[in-house]
Amino acid sequence: MRIDLVSIFCDYFAPLQLSLVGKAISSGLVDLGVHDLRDWTHDRHRTVDDTPYGGGAGMVMKPEPWGEVFDALVPADGPTPVLVIPTPAGEPFRQSIAAELAEADWLLFACGRYEGIDARVSEHARTKMQVRELSLGDYVLNGGEVAALAIVEAVVRLIPGVLGNPESLAEESHGSQLNGELEYPVFTKPSTWRGLEVPPVLLSGNHGEVDRWRLEQARRITAERRPDLLQFGE
Ligand code: SAM
Repeated sequence: MRIDLVSIFCDYFAPLQLSLVGKAISSGLVDLGVHDLRDWTHDRHRTVDDTPYGGGAGMVMKPEPWGEVFDALVPADGPTPVLVIPTPAGEPFRQSIAAELAEADWLLFACGRYEGIDARVSEHARTKMQVRELSLGDYVLNGGEVAALAIVEAVVRLIPGVLGNPESLAEESHGSQLNGELEYPVFTKPSTWRGLEVPPVLLSGNHGEVDRWRLEQARRITAERRPDLLQFGE
């Protein structure tokens, strides 16, 4: 998969060289490009923002540098990426969207700052490529970089060959084996730690009992924390 990230704070993406995403890059499973939006400005101050039409607080990212960087990265006659625009006003990002994006050959991220990007940038991009405006959650960050990092990590771990044991994808929170619910509690050795015992069923060696206990726990935790995720009638 090719992934391009456009930002005015490219240093935010240094952690992508670490851990599993870093390995996916060094092994060639992911081809990463990081681009400074200011390289597509033409004034001495490399300006990327201006005052909002209609008034109000804050500044808005100008459309011209975005248009130019997209023209440079996405030639008119070639393949097109899925353009991901992180925004708190977007569709909530979730595991099913990560799975859809993991099927794409190419993702391009437009990381906004200030009060966001001039709305015509997304409108114009839609005439050329698929656009997903995605929110990381119901809160406001300073910029799209942290959201892009989270989305990249969630997507890249779904690319075949990135995780050592692909079965762990089905068994984890939001995975298919738990019907999209939250994961059960997990334990490792020692069996007693600071007076706390591992639930005896996990030491029983009875796989049927273990599976039943885990499903019950997953359902209990989901009901307590995220009742909206419960799949009734299962
Ligand atoms: N004025 C915008 C609004 O009220 O929706 C908020 C702009 S925010 C300060 C600046 C940038 O941070 C956004 O353009 C977006 O790229 C990013 N951002 C902030 N919160 C986000 C979230 N919850 N999910 C994804 N991106 C977010």
